[in-house]
Amino acid sequence: MYLNVTEIESAITNLNVAHPETTQLIEPPHATHEGRTTQVLRVGTRAADEADGILALGGLHAREWVPPDALVSLAADLLEAHAGGTGLRYGGTAFTAAQIATLLDTVNLFFFPCANPDGRAHSQTVAGNWRKNRRPAPPGLGGPSCVGVDLNRNFDFLWDHTAKFAADSDVHTSADPCDPQQYRGPAVASEPETRNVVWVLDTFPRIRWHVDVHSAVPVILHSWGDDQNQSTKSADNFTNPALDTVRGRRNDGIGEFITTHDLDTAVRLAQRMHDAIFGVRSFDYGVEQAYGLYPTSGASDDYAFSRHVVEPDDTKLFAFTIECGTSQQPTFGEAENVIREVSAGLVAFALGAHDITDGTHP
Ligand SMILES: [Zn+2]
Repeated sequence: MYLNVTEIESAITNLNVAHPETTQLIEPPHATHEGRTTQVLRVGTRAADEADGILALGGLHAREWVPPDALVSLAADLLEAHAGGTGLRYGGTAFTAAQIATLLDTVNLFFFPCANPDGRAHSQTVAGNWRKNRRPAPPGLGGPSCVGVDLNRNFDFLWDHTAKFAADSDVHTSADPCDPQQYRGPAVASEPETRNVVWVLDTFPRIRWHVDVHSAVPVILHSWGDDQNQSTKSADNFTNPALDTVRGRRNDGIGEFITTHDLDTAVRLAQRMHDAIFGVRSFDYGVEQAYGLYPTSGASDDYAFSRHVVEPDDTKLFAFTIECGTSQQPTFGEAENVIREVSAGLVAFALGAHDITDGTHP
């Protein structure tokens, strides 16, 4: 059975109680519109400021039921394996006890499994296909679809798409509060759930990697999401207002800047996840640039990777979106297979993150 939002939070609390030496319970400060709070569980043997971190985020989209369960399950697996001195096996992908010990000693995993609890509760009890959070409808707009904001369009990255993208760019977001899927919100980072994610990144500057787990394509997406990548013109980037009327078009010779080194790093990190996922049951997730699906605005992955460009003193965060599985609400038996895939991918990612990112890996 899928976890409900109460069960997710109690699972996090229980893991902290059972493993006080290897976890830290973190409560982001902003309550949701319906008054819920959410928790982050840091897993690692070293303090938050003593090791580099990975943020594993889930549940931004309410109807995608597998990612929160996957992140809770993986946190429990890692802690139990570490405490018992055992390895972990997910189908055909296996990790030794020594690898699990190394993982917990060298990185901190920040599990934020259920970033949108109001939306998940609504999806699990009222409207299965609900995607947004539960911001009340604006005054005078009463329809049920006028409730809520698409949290993965609310982050501070080219948020104002009508000003920042070409009119014919097909950017997937909306300024209409009654858009049932992709309303961007009344202001940038207007939502408490969005600000909680930002708070985690602000509060823990040693987080260097951001993995936002969604469903379902399946694919692993790397930067950028707003336009096709290019590595030749550094001035052609998201901060450049000269591109505001042309941004997002396909094959127009104008793209979002990423250095060849960063692109190579991002692809290799994504490939590491891909290979471990493939090992589970030979299911072949794609690896592609986020723009490959369609141009996006205000997404968490682009926001995370953009932070160091906006504030050069900020940590450079390599950022990814996993679109896991092929169904948003598969039978729980199939969900368990997808949970194995996500778990294998994230463990392999965590084990390879330093070597690949810092260039010590051949
Ligand atoms: Zn999603």
